[in-house]
Amino acid sequence: MTLLSVSEARERILSHFQSVTTESLPLAECMNRVLAQDITAETDLPLFDNSSMDGFAIRATDVADANPASPRSLRVVADIPAGASPTISLAPGEAARIMTGAQMPNGADAVVPVEDTDFENRDAGSTPPDYVKIFKPVKSGDSTRPRGMDVHAGDVVLKKGRALKPQDLGLLAMLGFARVEVHRKPRVGLFSSGDELLEVGALLESGKIRDSNSYMLASLIESANVEVVRLGVAKDNFDSVKSLLERAVNENVDLILSSAGVSVGAYDFVKSVIESNGSMDFWRVDMRPGKPLAFGKYKKIPFIGLPGNPVSAFVGFEVFVRGTLGRLSGSLDGSRQTVRVRSEEEINSDGRESYLRAQIREENGILLARLTGHQGSGNLLSLVQADALLIIPAGVKCVPAGQEVDAWLL
Ligand code: AMP
Ligand code: MG
Repeated sequence: MTLLSVSEARERILSHFQSVTTESLPLAECMNRVLAQDITAETDLPLFDNSSMDGFAIRATDVADANPASPRSLRVVADIPAGASPTISLAPGEAARIMTGAQMPNGADAVVPVEDTDFENRDAGSTPPDYVKIFKPVKSGDSTRPRGMDVHAGDVVLKKGRALKPQDLGLLAMLGFARVEVHRKPRVGLFSSGDELLEVGALLESGKIRDSNSYMLASLIESANVEVVRLGVAKDNFDSVKSLLERAVNENVDLILSSAGVSVGAYDFVKSVIESNGSMDFWRVDMRPGKPLAFGKYKKIPFIGLPGNPVSAFVGFEVFVRGTLGRLSGSLDGSRQTVRVRSEEEINSDGRESYLRAQIREENGILLARLTGHQGSGNLLSLVQADALLIIPAGVKCVPAGQEVDAWLL
């Protein structure tokens, strides 16, 4: 059996994946989808010069000497609500009442907010005055938003490979993209295996445990914005495993993910089924928890077999599967961000790359870490209590108290 470093195993797996096909979707369905194209603005933003205040559009030179004791009186020649297309052109000594977001008239170069005039009525329906007194000077451009101040036509505003966020959808709408070319959502077929596993609602029987991995792994997959096809629990026999794998094939999944049954044990049938119609390798990865890992293909569909112990399955997902799902999704950065945390205690490790559960607290801007509970790979409570996985590099046997290490925040 091959012994691989974490990065070797990760690279080997990744090399079998490329992004799924793309589709054109209505903008409203694009949240979290990964862009398959660069987005180039076809218009400026704002689209036109407009007012950022309710007030009066004026020529700044007209009010250069205005002050409360001797205000400057301007003739109001127009009323411009939001959505109107002004046709006038302001001459010297003239003003136009204008609302926030309304298009600036020709000739005007600034807006005086209503509170700096003698006409404080902000009601959109009210009749504008014939004359308005201006109490303060303004500079050219004040309280206006010039066309193109945010975006210029031709700018690339969003890059291919970006998972779309709510604010991105807002910008796409501003720019008139009613449909967007995005990657389709990948599909992952998920199953658990083992004769000991019961459905969570079933009556307990002696010697049996509840299948917890499928709930945890399904939500991890969904947290990566990937669709889960729950295939259920495979019994430890050839036919049961085979029928679940066949369902995965029929469901057209992009990846089959399983937990348990991948250590070389007498009751591990996953290997023989996969090899009846594909290939599978067992790897020992120089990591803890989660040393055994299987990778193969069943009828050309990639298969990743995670260990059965719940914490190992979780860590295995984060280390090997999350990035793979990112690659499938077309995402340029599907991996977790690492932060630096300071260990509050001495941590002993066995030289394998270790992913340890820790609680994090902040003190004076520094993240301090303490390991939680029992670090054994079956102890899920310590993972529940953890805020982070500390990453102790391969080869390190002791991290002294006070030393910083990389961590993934959970
Ligand atoms: P295995 O890889 O089949 O040797 O399983 C390793 C350990 O993980 C055993 O203690 C199993 O009972 C446990 N295990 C396997 N699958 C699950 C599961 N779906 N949920 C919870 N524990 C599991
Ligand atoms: Mg088993």
